Amino acid sequence: MKKVGNWDIMSVCVGIVMLGLHSCDRIEGNKVKRLDSVDMAQHKRDSLIIVQDSISKVDSLRKDSITKMEESITYHGAKDTTVLLTDSVSPRYIYLTFDDGPLNGSQYLDSIATAKDVRISAFLIGEHDKMSKKLHGYTERYKSNPLVDCYNHSFWHAHNKYSTFYADPQAAFEDFEHAEQSLGLEHKIVRLPGRNIWYVGDRKRIDLESGASTAELLHQNGYKIMGWDCEWKINGVTGKPDLTVNQLYTQIKNLLHKGTSYTKNNVVLLTHDNMYQTKKGQKLLSDLIDSLKQHPNYRFEFMRNYPN
Ligand SMILES: [Zn+2]
Repeated sequence: MKKVGNWDIMSVCVGIVMLGLHSCDRIEGNKVKRLDSVDMAQHKRDSLIIVQDSISKVDSLRKDSITKMEESITYHGAKDTTVLLTDSVSPRYIYLTFDDGPLNGSQYLDSIATAKDVRISAFLIGEHDKMSKKLHGYTERYKSNPLVDCYNHSFWHAHNKYSTFYADPQAAFEDFEHAEQSLGLEHKIVRLPGRNIWYVGDRKRIDLESGASTAELLHQNGYKIMGWDCEWKINGVTGKPDLTVNQLYTQIKNLLHKGTSYTKNNVVLLTHDNMYQTKKGQKLLSDLIDSLKQHPNYRFEFMRNYPN
């Protein structure tokens, strides 16, 4: 009887969460503009204090009803025990990947990774690192955090003109090399701007043919190209997500249970640094991590450990 009550409460809560769609391209197209205003607005603030403040609030908010519901509905009934048993047969790997940093938001991701003790992967843009001392400082924070791995997301992000960028594979390849040197990256792992292309070991999957030649060239030169299995979009200003924590958590669980991710037992989540500027956004990520952590066999891994 208790269980029925919990499900009812959950339905209501899920229902009141509004979806805020925010396209990747729009965010990327406006990022420079937004950075300027964000820099000004945040000028007087000490990010470390804000981070500590937000993390402690996030932790206290953890005790809210949504979290309690998630905990109480998990694996208490006979049905759920079956799920748990099936689910704990083998380790399952989750890769939390964050694109387009360093940006305002990166500093909070760095702190959340530490607070939650989970490994995260950051796909960085060379241009952003050169934009300001503050942003370069975020890169440095990432690089000095053993829970954060830094990878290559190009130097110019194709100036957000993807077809033009990939029309010249050699120039595109050199742009990645430029980013690698400029950011001082130690891993030959890339994610192509605007393309969900996989090329790891002998396996590849191309979403758009434009980009395939660049991927080929990178692969020939020893790079691993990483796509993603699911994406989370959170409005960087309002903190509204396109999927609730529970919806995304269910999506990740289904990808693992059904074996429908690019590689079975491995799920790569794509999201963007600037979506975690707000405390709402930070709490969403924090809650997602807590939900996933309920599974003792889920491991948070770096993309460099993704199977070949
Ligand atoms: Zn990007």
